[in-house]
Amino acid sequence: MPEQDDGLNKQQVLIIGAGNAGLCAGIAALQAGAISVAILDSAPRDLRGGNSALTKSMRFSWDDRAFIATLLRDPGQYGLDTILAGRPVYTDAQYFDDWLGVSGDQVDTALIKSITRRSHGTTAWMRAFGQRWVPRPDPLPGDVPVVFEGGGQGLQARNFAEFERLGGTVHYDSTVTDIERLSGDRFLVRGTGGTFPVVCDALVLASGGFEGDPRARERHLGGQWRDVKLRGVPFNNGAPLEAAVALGADTAGNWRKCHATPQGIGLPDYVLPRQMHESHLLTRYAFPLGIVVNREGRRFFDESAGYSNLTYVSLGQKIMEQPGRIAFQIFDGKVLEAGALPLGYLGDPAALTVRSLEEGAERLGIDAVRLRDEVDRLNKAGGDPVSPVADVSVRTPKRLESPPFLFVPVVSGLTFTYGGLSVTTDAQVRGGGKPIEGLYAAGVIVGGLYDEGYPAGTGLMAGAVLGRAAGTAAAGHAARTGGN
Ligand SMILES: Cc1cc2nc3c(=O)[nH]c(=O)nc-3n(C[C@H](O)[C@H](O)[C@H](O)COP(=O)(O)OP(=O)(O)OC[C@H]3O[C@@H](n4cnc5c(N)ncnc54)[C@H](O)[C@@H]3O)c2cc1C
Repeated sequence: MPEQDDGLNKQQVLIIGAGNAGLCAGIAALQAGAISVAILDSAPRDLRGGNSALTKSMRFSWDDRAFIATLLRDPGQYGLDTILAGRPVYTDAQYFDDWLGVSGDQVDTALIKSITRRSHGTTAWMRAFGQRWVPRPDPLPGDVPVVFEGGGQGLQARNFAEFERLGGTVHYDSTVTDIERLSGDRFLVRGTGGTFPVVCDALVLASGGFEGDPRARERHLGGQWRDVKLRGVPFNNGAPLEAAVALGADTAGNWRKCHATPQGIGLPDYVLPRQMHESHLLTRYAFPLGIVVNREGRRFFDESAGYSNLTYVSLGQKIMEQPGRIAFQIFDGKVLEAGALPLGYLGDPAALTVRSLEEGAERLGIDAVRLRDEVDRLNKAGGDPVSPVADVSVRTPKRLESPPFLFVPVVSGLTFTYGGLSVTTDAQVRGGGKPIEGLYAAGVIVGGLYDEGYPAGTGLMAGAVLGRAAGTAAAGHAARTGGN
């Protein structure tokens, strides 16, 4: 076992994973006075950033519209009334209700409540260390009105810059395979790459879920998920999660479920951090404006059950249960004429604009008779015509009648897995129901945050809140137990 007192092999605080959660932990640990803080990451430097680099927005609460202005680099440039249209405040209580409204039963409500309560303060903390936002260019009702400047790539560039400015080090091409608990509440971390082994006084696990490992997906989620396409990076192999469980960490949440959403059928097998723009164009979340059918021509999902940023995961999960694991979103001429569909839909080479439902069905291999029945039933139900405005279409029955029709084939893309570690609100990993001294977890590796659906923007927020808590607590633990 290495016991060098200097250099890489001995760290006060060691973090596995340089996503948003790991970098927030690193920044908080350095701010709290930790002397040596290092992050190990599987990715090479030019592919750094994790799934966090592919994101866009983070959901936080605010009870004062002036707060939104503080997040913008040049608030005078924008009209706050326009940015906040329809949502002047978003309270902790609304946030908590939105989260629980879609999440199912197998969640840790105390943990979720503590995250929603700390979302405002943590967002202000991120602003203070350099994060910046811009108004959301394509707001859907129910969305947070601002997104990260430069999207997830901008978020991560600023996170890395601050972590390194404070003196933290990131070691790339360093894949963790195994963790051992040593006496004195320290940890030994093994892996592949020149970095290993490393001993640390406090360890933060922030390596995402097991979404990148086909065998783990098959084991926990079921056979149909083995060959699913990933919306994110291929590096999140779940090894640190498994290693933590092997050393006695408690698990939490629903290990049989995951976050998956409708995507264009051009989605590759996985996406790299530098492909953020391509990735954003592949999302297919305008379904409340139309209908979604399977190959049998049947609807299998209530497209108008809620804002798409609350229901999109339920649709992604259901697509995996349909024949051929494919579905078709169909929009009518009024929606097309109104220009209501995002750019990605219009540029999708697999999308078809046709004069009739029958033509679209025939060309895409959908049962045309059943599709016609389904649409006739819908139109007879006497609903309002499909509205080109998403908030009007929500919770109203719809009609689909004016040609031309746009048919958009969609598949499910896996974003991340839900099962993970049990943590306290201070991000301490539990073992046998009690906190394991010196071991912390943040981000997607934490279980108990989601079960069925997922409210958009909460992944980054949970990672930031728990990352900050983990880094602060890890620095305190390292200082108490001796440090280097
Ligand atoms: C396309 C896409 C869009 C998304 N959009 C949003 C959004 O707009 N808002 C939102 O809140 N959430 C969004 N999410 C979800 C979001 O990515 C996650 O909630 C959040 O980024 C997770 O952060 P993390 O730090 O836990 O994981 P990640 O950012 O994935 O970081 C994990 C890191 O751990 C490293 N790692 C993994 N295994 C190992 C190992 N064995 N050894 C060493 N290193 C390892 C990886 O290389 C990676 O860098 C999106 C996800 C995707 C894929």
